[in-house]
Amino acid sequence: MTLPFPLPTYADVEAASRRLAGVANRTPVLTSTFANEATGAEIFFKAENFQRMGAFKFRGGYNAISRLGDDAKRRGVLAFSSGNHAQAIALSGRLLQVPTTILMPLDAPEMKIAATRGYGAEVVLFDRYKVNREELAAEMAAERGLSLIPPFDHPDVLAGQGTAAKELIEDTGPLDMLFVCLGGGGLVAGCALAAHELSPGIKVYGVEPEAGNDGQQSFRSGQIVKIAVPKTIADGAQTAALSPLTFALISRDIADILTVSDAELVETMRFFGARMKIVVEPTGCLAAAAVLGSKIPVRGKRVGVILSGGNVDLSTYARLVG
Ligand SMILES: *Cc1c(COP(=O)(O)O)cnc(C)c1O
Repeated sequence: MTLPFPLPTYADVEAASRRLAGVANRTPVLTSTFANEATGAEIFFKAENFQRMGAFKFRGGYNAISRLGDDAKRRGVLAFSSGNHAQAIALSGRLLQVPTTILMPLDAPEMKIAATRGYGAEVVLFDRYKVNREELAAEMAAERGLSLIPPFDHPDVLAGQGTAAKELIEDTGPLDMLFVCLGGGGLVAGCALAAHELSPGIKVYGVEPEAGNDGQQSFRSGQIVKIAVPKTIADGAQTAALSPLTFALISRDIADILTVSDAELVETMRFFGARMKIVVEPTGCLAAAAVLGSKIPVRGKRVGVILSGGNVDLSTYARLVG
């Protein structure tokens, strides 16, 4: 496969981490004696639920907007998302004084629309059952001269996401394995660039919802497999397909892609609430669920786990863990 762009490298992750220094939170690395005893591994949780706006997506969004030229910054940025990417772009735009427009479905949760507006973005609502959002986004970007920043299919976005693994391994020292939540693959692709550089020999695993295992099918078959929008509580991983960019990096840098069920995600949310006293959203539990559920042997290993975010309505949270 020939790609119309060069693949990002660890140097891009390093450059992103310089841009994010003093802006993104250097999130804590948490441990749990209970989890270590249950698995026989030494587990290090990178708590991106404590990142600004509540998820790692701030890293990629901020890095991508920072990289725009002055003219593009003046005209502004467009993104489409009903979730964390919307808030990441809105907040990054506010911090960098770049106007942002976010396309959100009419039926997106009121709280998420309000949060995105609260960061100063112009929210444009559309009917997702009538309108193709990619086409609408491309049209609006062309009409208004805006730069479109997608949630994962972008080298600056994924280089930014990789700073999460860079910080983790800087704090823990070398690891044997790293588990990363997977939707469109920006987070795992970026984290793998950092992990292989800072911890040679490490094995990096992507973890996605059982109902939405397009990544696993793609990885194992050697070509991008597209599925219908999966039904899962992991709303941050309801992507239909990897992109050529994330697929290229994942094929090269990842050891395997594992899946977990919604029931295992709920179990893991309960573990974080009850044992570690932290709120992790369903999608943010993917990687941890694979480790705690021993999807592959981890006994005796030093294991990194990215907790990707903590944005979940309290009512949903209460219903799931109650
Ligand atoms: C977006 C998101 C993911 C998936 O990230 P990709 O880069 O699309 O693979 C995982 N967890 C949370 C909380 C997210 O918001």
